[in-house]
Amino acid sequence: MHVKDKMITVTSPLLPDLQEFQGLMKEIWDSKWITNNGSFHQKLEAALAEYLKVPYISLFTNGTLPLLTALQALDITGEVITTPYSFVATTHSIWWNRCTPVFVDIDPSTGNMDPERIEAAITPRTSAILPVHVYGKPCDTKRIKDIADRYGLKVIYDAAHAFGVEVNGESILNSGDLSTLSFHATKVYNTIEGGAMVMHDAETKKQIDYLKNFGFANEVEVVGPGINSKMDEVRSAYGLLNLKQIDAAIEARHQIAIRYREALKDVAGISYFEDMPGVRHNYSYFPIFVDRKEYGMTRDELYYKMRDKGVFGRRYFYPLISTFSPYNSFPSAAPSNLPNACRMADSVICLPIYHNLEEGEVERICDIIREK
Ligand SMILES: *Cc1c(COP(=O)(O)O)cnc(C)c1O
Repeated sequence: MHVKDKMITVTSPLLPDLQEFQGLMKEIWDSKWITNNGSFHQKLEAALAEYLKVPYISLFTNGTLPLLTALQALDITGEVITTPYSFVATTHSIWWNRCTPVFVDIDPSTGNMDPERIEAAITPRTSAILPVHVYGKPCDTKRIKDIADRYGLKVIYDAAHAFGVEVNGESILNSGDLSTLSFHATKVYNTIEGGAMVMHDAETKKQIDYLKNFGFANEVEVVGPGINSKMDEVRSAYGLLNLKQIDAAIEARHQIAIRYREALKDVAGISYFEDMPGVRHNYSYFPIFVDRKEYGMTRDELYYKMRDKGVFGRRYFYPLISTFSPYNSFPSAAPSNLPNACRMADSVICLPIYHNLEEGEVERICDIIREK
């Protein structure tokens, strides 16, 4: 295959140095301690708490189980207000807790749940709000807290995209009652599969640590119907090595975002997000939005044209969660309730962005978008 036609995927995982990784594997082999709160698990929790500027963090085996466990730990019942513009695991976590998702439309300027629309969705059965920092763009956490406090609701943030995101020097992960992270291979920071929950106090961390280990408080006591979601030593060691390179990876992504914005700024019918003032972004995604009339092509036409030329963007988040069969019969799932989310889902393409995407590849992608 000619280099020009090399396939470009939407992301490529950040991988630790193999030799360093092998060195740590030797330590694990020698110790024969391969899971159950071993030394690498403890080291990674400490290192992440420091890096992310959060008081307490509990590692999980993926980013879905901390969502399920967060709702369980806070005794959430009845209805949970959430966004349809996310990965399907967000809403599945509500279903697994036998609660009803209530979809609220998004703010088209951010892609996040529109705080203006939350109050109208609250009923006597509402017990929590589950927003998502989509693409790592921080939600309006002050407004959401204000509403939650007035109605006595819990707030759980699905922060799967928000690793390392800060607002005025403060971690976005400290917002809400609990926040959850995903360290899946496709995310900015990965442990292959993995995830975490961020909490405010030691007592909550203790309870969460029990719940991710079947509810065991000690050898003979089970305090609740917990699940098994422990991160093992191999992936904890991998995570420690990746943490050393995360700042460089985020900066490389930043440079790619700058190149995309520069190259696409004069293309009629293509828009994208700018950085938000005071925010340390992680550049986890680079979504563009296609205006069919102005651009002269539909989103799908551009998407398939890119694929024909070997560029595999992704339509995150299309289709909306609210259109999937387990959820599409809920009244709040009606497209008329979600006009902004429908529009964004129908116009978005996330362009390839990752730490070692080359300048020439960014140019090639932009050339395909610019030529018509
Ligand atoms: C990736 C993702 C998850 C699920 O994380 P896994 O680690 O894949 O289980 C949940 N919510 C959002 C918004 C995600 O992007």
